[in-house]
Amino acid sequence: MEKLVEKYFRPRLPHIWCPGCGNGIVTGAIVKAIDKLGLNQDETVIVSGIGCSSRASGYLNFDTVHSAHGRALPVATGVKLSEPRLNVIVVTGDGDSTAIGGNHFIHAARRNINLTVVLYNNNIYGMTGGQYSPLTPSHSIATTAPYGTLERPFDVPELAKAAGATFVARSTAFHTQLLVDVIAQGIAHDGFSLIEAVTQCPIYNGRQNKLGDAPTMMKWQRDHAVNVEAAKKMTPEQLAGKFLIGVLHKSEAPEYTKQYDDLVIANAQKGAK
Ligand code: SF4
Repeated sequence: MEKLVEKYFRPRLPHIWCPGCGNGIVTGAIVKAIDKLGLNQDETVIVSGIGCSSRASGYLNFDTVHSAHGRALPVATGVKLSEPRLNVIVVTGDGDSTAIGGNHFIHAARRNINLTVVLYNNNIYGMTGGQYSPLTPSHSIATTAPYGTLERPFDVPELAKAAGATFVARSTAFHTQLLVDVIAQGIAHDGFSLIEAVTQCPIYNGRQNKLGDAPTMMKWQRDHAVNVEAAKKMTPEQLAGKFLIGVLHKSEAPEYTKQYDDLVIANAQKGAK
């Protein structure tokens, strides 16, 4: 890992993440996936929004963009459209991508543009002080819901699939090897890829909801995640209260930048106005 740190991280320590935060594990998984695929570092771009997880773009030694809150996907879309040969990876949090950036999220998925989105889901807005997000479980305590939130959370893989994403997966900070594997599969997939990385925020989510320290929160991930293959042999009763990890959806559909090249550039070359 030391070699990977030297190769893929800027010498920009200390980082801002709290002790026990899962963001480092998820960012490490992205780097391992990039290394596993042997991607050209100069042809790989990392785009983030705003939030604790989105600080990853500042630490990674690639061409990076730390964009405005919720705007990682339109920025990444612009990068990919202007130079389709680039590998474009988006790092974003649950609030960044499904609240402020929710509209961008569903339309990027609908276009099936070849971006890989790694959504760090810590169930809370960490950087701004523990407000609830669209992925916060019902009845959780947050600074904006002192008696518990009444809203139902999105199932973000289902949302991505319904919007048109052609690769959808989920893993956790505890299931790190699987996380590396599904991120690598998402990068290799030719279309819009969404990887939800369930991770722990022991400071705001953990403290407000009395979920315990970081190891306790990771044990919760271990005990509540069920691999999608194992789930096929389980009863609804056995799956109650659990969530699925692994590749949840994969399909084929035309990729946006290729269609753009074929349609717009071909017509421009013919002199069409
Ligand atoms: S506030 Fe939460 S998500 Fe943000 S760095 Fe601290 S532990 Fe991580």
